[in-house]
Amino acid sequence: MSDPYKALDFYNVDDLYAEEERMIRDTVRSWVSDRFMPVIEEHNRAATFPTELIPELGEMGVYGASLTGYGCAGLSPIASGLICQELERGDSGLRSFVSVQGSLCMYPIWAFGTEEQKQKYLPDMAAGKLIGCFGLTEADFGSNPGGMLTKAVEDGDHYVLNGSKYWITNGSTCQVAIIWAKLNGVIRGFLIDSDTPGFTAKQIKNKFSLRASDTSELVFEDCRIPKTQLLPGIEGIKGPLSCLTQARFGIAFGAIGAAQAAYDEALRYSQIRISFDKPIARYQLVQNKLVWMAAEITKAQLMCWQLAKLKSEGTMHHYHVSMAKRNSCWMALECCRIGRDILGANGITDEYQMMRHMCNLESVITYEGTHDIHGLIIGRQLTGEDAIT
Ligand SMILES: Cc1cc2nc3c(=O)[nH]c(=O)nc-3n(C[C@H](O)[C@H](O)[C@H](O)COP(=O)(O)OP(=O)(O)OC[C@H]3O[C@@H](n4cnc5c(N)ncnc54)[C@H](O)[C@@H]3O)c2cc1C
Repeated sequence: MSDPYKALDFYNVDDLYAEEERMIRDTVRSWVSDRFMPVIEEHNRAATFPTELIPELGEMGVYGASLTGYGCAGLSPIASGLICQELERGDSGLRSFVSVQGSLCMYPIWAFGTEEQKQKYLPDMAAGKLIGCFGLTEADFGSNPGGMLTKAVEDGDHYVLNGSKYWITNGSTCQVAIIWAKLNGVIRGFLIDSDTPGFTAKQIKNKFSLRASDTSELVFEDCRIPKTQLLPGIEGIKGPLSCLTQARFGIAFGAIGAAQAAYDEALRYSQIRISFDKPIARYQLVQNKLVWMAAEITKAQLMCWQLAKLKSEGTMHHYHVSMAKRNSCWMALECCRIGRDILGANGITDEYQMMRHMCNLESVITYEGTHDIHGLIIGRQLTGEDAIT
């Protein structure tokens, strides 16, 4: 059956995008309908990522789409945001895969790496021939990554790493890992090829959320890497945080895609589901739920459009991104919860997408800064008072 998806655009937000941006968005939208939707439920059940699609995503230019040179597409912030929106309409795991590759792995190499590192990794990563992961979180240090225990020590012309990372997207799929570890007490970024002796990855099983995504534990035991694998251009927690700002920008757009999928499915269902001899779309309470979803999606679209404009103009700050990431994830999760209610009992089966998106969004609202941590980042900006530490 062809994918019947129709994206909500109640305010003609499309008019705010350039023709090229709409074209890119539509290309990714069609790809998701034609190539991804037919396989996602099967992968979600099996808890596997459709690795066979990785090269096709490379051909579309979605990896590191906003970066310039080294085979990257050099797209505008809006175009790269809309790519995330369309990918996440398919599944948050698909958008996570692309975000990790582009914003969390290619970006730090592009921004902080040597020319040699850029040449070695970026063109293959842009093509999807080489997959990366980003290791910041540890089992006991999520919201407070600065407390990390993973350490690097100098040993001649090598560094030796010991420690572990937890909840790492693409951890078992990757060929290169960007690992944040303390060197003489200062957080630094290291490029570790996954075939380095002492590097092991193990998938975290039995997740209810982001099932079609590899989430792994990484362990480093006397992992020796040449000194040329250090990212020289950044020191301290601002290194990983600057990558997270890039990725959170994509999440802010991405979650709108999941919300649009939820709205679309709920609307179509309400028009054909008969209760008391009428389609449930005829009932005021059901309409009110759809109206809530449509209004929140529209507000998020406009917020993200302005966020992208700030990014284009070079005036976007991390707290702007926090507000959009926090808002989009919350509203998308609420849309799925309300949408699940509209679907009644059918909403709990995987014949419908609703609960897959809902469960995924429980991760998306938590990773890359929880809802509350983003609230505190915004609160700090508004009040000048730091309530995080
Ligand atoms: C599917 C998935 C994929 C992930 N992928 C990656 C990845 O690729 N790379 C990576 O490095 N990490 C990844 N993560 C980790 C993710 O970023 C962390 O889980 C997240 O930062 C939250 O950390 P935590 O789980 O340790 O929660 P905690 O930090 O333990 O937080 C638990 C609760 O306490 C609250 N809390 C914590 N501190 C405060 C405070 N100061 N004030 C008020 N409330 C507070 C939080 O808001 C939350 O509600 C992933 C996580 C998931 C679930």
